[in-house]
Amino acid sequence: MSRFLCEKFSSLEAYTPGEQPQGMKYIKLNTNESPYPPSPKTIAAAGMEAEKLNLYSDPESKLLKQRLAERYGVKYENVFTSNGSDEILQFFFMAFCSERDVAYPSISYGFYPVYAELFGCKSTVIPLKDDFSVDSGDYEGINKNIVIANPNAPTGLCLTMAQVEKIVTSNPDNIVLIDEAYVDFGGDSCVELTKKYSNLVVCMTFSKSRSLAGGRLGFCFANEEIIKDLEKIKYSTNPYNVNRMTQACGVAAIEDDGYYMDNAQKIIKTREYLTEEYRKLGFYVLDSKANFIFAKHNSISGAEFYRELRACGILVRHFSKAEIKDFVRISVGTMEDIETLVIKTKEILSKRFV
Ligand SMILES: *Cc1c(COP(=O)(O)O)cnc(C)c1O
Repeated sequence: MSRFLCEKFSSLEAYTPGEQPQGMKYIKLNTNESPYPPSPKTIAAAGMEAEKLNLYSDPESKLLKQRLAERYGVKYENVFTSNGSDEILQFFFMAFCSERDVAYPSISYGFYPVYAELFGCKSTVIPLKDDFSVDSGDYEGINKNIVIANPNAPTGLCLTMAQVEKIVTSNPDNIVLIDEAYVDFGGDSCVELTKKYSNLVVCMTFSKSRSLAGGRLGFCFANEEIIKDLEKIKYSTNPYNVNRMTQACGVAAIEDDGYYMDNAQKIIKTREYLTEEYRKLGFYVLDSKANFIFAKHNSISGAEFYRELRACGILVRHFSKAEIKDFVRISVGTMEDIETLVIKTKEILSKRFV
């Protein structure tokens, strides 16, 4: 830390991303990226747009917003686009939570507490139930802003649309953000509810199901007034927040939606295979509706299993937080990668039983 950093940031604990080793040394199952490349059309779109990099991007992302509005059956005015959905979360905390308490689950996406701290928001951290699910009743009528990932990370567990609706209607004077980063892998989307309620934001990303983590593209749906507030923050920080190539990739990806939704189905199948194989090996595996599983085994600690897999060339994610330290989170890769994972896992476990 330099002597110039503002006092209020001196104790800020930044978000820790999963490892991103460059080069292909590992089977990479640690940051929930898609194992499949973008579609050929998406890749071509980036190349064509690169010729115009001397010009600024469209600050309104018009074409992309139109495509998203069509795809999700909402109006253009109800769409916002961003540099990764992390930016939407950032704008949300900045715009709506610095003068009003915000509640979120104790085990969830690690960025929520970071943004809360960065923008001086008072947080209420609500524990999960013993089975690691979010107790939706805990959020009803609490008169606070609310942020919930649905499916939740790193558990993969979901709330139903009816449960979300109850949270939204019982907190009418507060804003609720539902983070649907993983919704394409089997969760219930609450986009429809944004047409009915003026206090709901539903946020999504191209990073997981649409193979564009490196392109940084997020979007959300909400009432027009909320979208205007987000635009105001955007134009006050970074008007060209979505670069040219990423806008073009986003448009092409929506036009190629079938390719990405087929890949999501493949990932769901692979996830079910992995869950079953791991359960046969004695793992406790949560019922994930995301592109990862969350699993633990009695005969090996989470940290040790992470290290052993790493030594075999497989990267997964381990969190040191006490309540979940026995678990590892494993992103669902290609069937081939997951078969290798299962074989290596058997080897690691068999060493412990001799
Ligand atoms: C991955 C993820 C995001 C952020 O993704 P971006 O790459 O910034 O779009 C947001 N929320 C959750 C719960 C995530 O897992």
